[in-house]
Amino acid sequence: MQDCGTNKQRNAAMDLLITDTTIVTGDAQHRILDRAAIALRGGRILAIGETAALEAAHPDMPRMPGRGLAVFPGFINAHTHTALTILRATVEDWDGNAVYGYMSPVSYEMSAEERAVMVQLGCLEAIRSGCTTLVEPFRHVPSYGDAMVATGLRLWLSENAADINTLNIRRGDYTVDPAFGQVFLDRTVEMVERYHNTQGGRVQCQIAAHAPDNCSPAMLRSLMELSAKYGLTRTVHLAQSMEEVRAVRAMHDATPAGYLAREGFLGPDLVGAHWTFCTPEDIKLLAAHGTQMAHCPANSSRRGPHTALLGLIRDAGVNIALGTDNMTEDMFHAFKLGSIIHRGGRGRAKEGGVDPQPWQVLEMATRNGARSVGAEAEIGSLEVGKKADLTILDLNTPSLRPIINLVGSVVHYGHPGCVHSVVVDGEFLMRDRRVLTLDEDALMAEAQRVTQRVWERMLAKNPDIPPPPGGLRWLDI
Ligand SMILES: [Zn+2]
Repeated sequence: MQDCGTNKQRNAAMDLLITDTTIVTGDAQHRILDRAAIALRGGRILAIGETAALEAAHPDMPRMPGRGLAVFPGFINAHTHTALTILRATVEDWDGNAVYGYMSPVSYEMSAEERAVMVQLGCLEAIRSGCTTLVEPFRHVPSYGDAMVATGLRLWLSENAADINTLNIRRGDYTVDPAFGQVFLDRTVEMVERYHNTQGGRVQCQIAAHAPDNCSPAMLRSLMELSAKYGLTRTVHLAQSMEEVRAVRAMHDATPAGYLAREGFLGPDLVGAHWTFCTPEDIKLLAAHGTQMAHCPANSSRRGPHTALLGLIRDAGVNIALGTDNMTEDMFHAFKLGSIIHRGGRGRAKEGGVDPQPWQVLEMATRNGARSVGAEAEIGSLEVGKKADLTILDLNTPSLRPIINLVGSVVHYGHPGCVHSVVVDGEFLMRDRRVLTLDEDALMAEAQRVTQRVWERMLAKNPDIPPPPGGLRWLDI
């Protein structure tokens, strides 16, 4: 694990004036300013305006020439699991329930040190993809939280609690195990007390129920009590698989959304990830409670197009944030697939046309993401007084040229190679394509070693877990 707290290369929160640049404010009017300037001070946005005026107002502020660059609000990944980079290019091509078949077992198989390496690999990819914020429910958070904090990213961490042993579900065993659940509740408290509202507010915590098919009513109640005690927002996976829908029906005679509603778990402080198999009635119920959505259109679509009824969800007034979910932190991937996957019913008017439009996709990854964690007053757009979280793209990139509609170019044709710099709390995590908070080469080499070790151990210990369809071919690199 690498610790940026001792990294001499990292800048302190700085005064900075980015001049003569394009500023995509992401504000309510969707304003884009040309040849403009943005001034940062004390980790916040001090001013936005004409370059000449800001240069005159701040003659001594260090300058960064911004010609050819575009400054966006930092991208917010509203739902991800960085440690699952360890499964990259394996379960995507497997026709089974990967959540219980691979993801849960591998998360237990990793040691604390191994998790720390893999989450840092995910964070490195996130930074290179222009992310400034990750919302990350996973398990064993106290074992790797320091490694994520050290990357400088803004974080919402949560411990994915369950009281049905997720290691047994792949064998069809849904027995409620209060002792198993108590470990999560204890770890949630440990996580909150160690990380919540630390690093000057950069690191926050949430309360997470893993999913409706692995949390009993008693577990949901305990989590609601913790959320009330600590004043934290909540998250849950929701209707992410047909197996989940069937299991909840068998155990509780309800849909996942119906079960959570009956237990009093829905509300405006809850973000449900996925909604893939929610019915129109579920959507009405969720919207009536003000429940928010972390939409993860990209990775699950590898196993067949994501079928969430996005038009109905949007028309019901639900706040839709954007996440990458598993095995990737590439927000551009989520932009691209998120903008096109729901057009599958083209001509059938279900979605009301060619939706969502690029501005709506960008908004999902900025303002809506901020709202989903209750932080819309602090992040999600470039406005004076907000935190200085910036994603700076290099417009001198062939895939973005010619520029007719900048946001359309970025949503449809952007990629991590376009990302020039990333700033969180007024500090550069990456500057001119150089990541400052991690040793990239060492980290990638270590992640390769860890991945091989963990996969070999997991398969040796669990003969019922098959090697992935593509096999395991360890390159000598
Ligand atoms: Zn997830």
